[in-house]
Amino acid sequence: MAKVWVDDTCIGCEACVDALPDVFQMDDGKAKVVNPEGASLEEIKETAEACPTESIKVEE
Ligand code: SF4
Repeated sequence: MAKVWVDDTCIGCEACVDALPDVFQMDDGKAKVVNPEGASLEEIKETAEACPTESIKVEE
């Protein structure tokens, strides 16, 4: 299973939470991963690429 996390460069734009609410949730102004299996790896990678600060990390 791939490891997915949000690093501390997140600016809290909420784009990932809007895109994949089963995977990401807001926590004190930043996104966090609540369930890495809440979407396909492909969807998570697309969302990571769309993050403006490249804060979403995926390790396969
Ligand atoms: S898309 Fe990136 S910057 Fe925006 S909330 Fe998610 S992790 Fe943070």
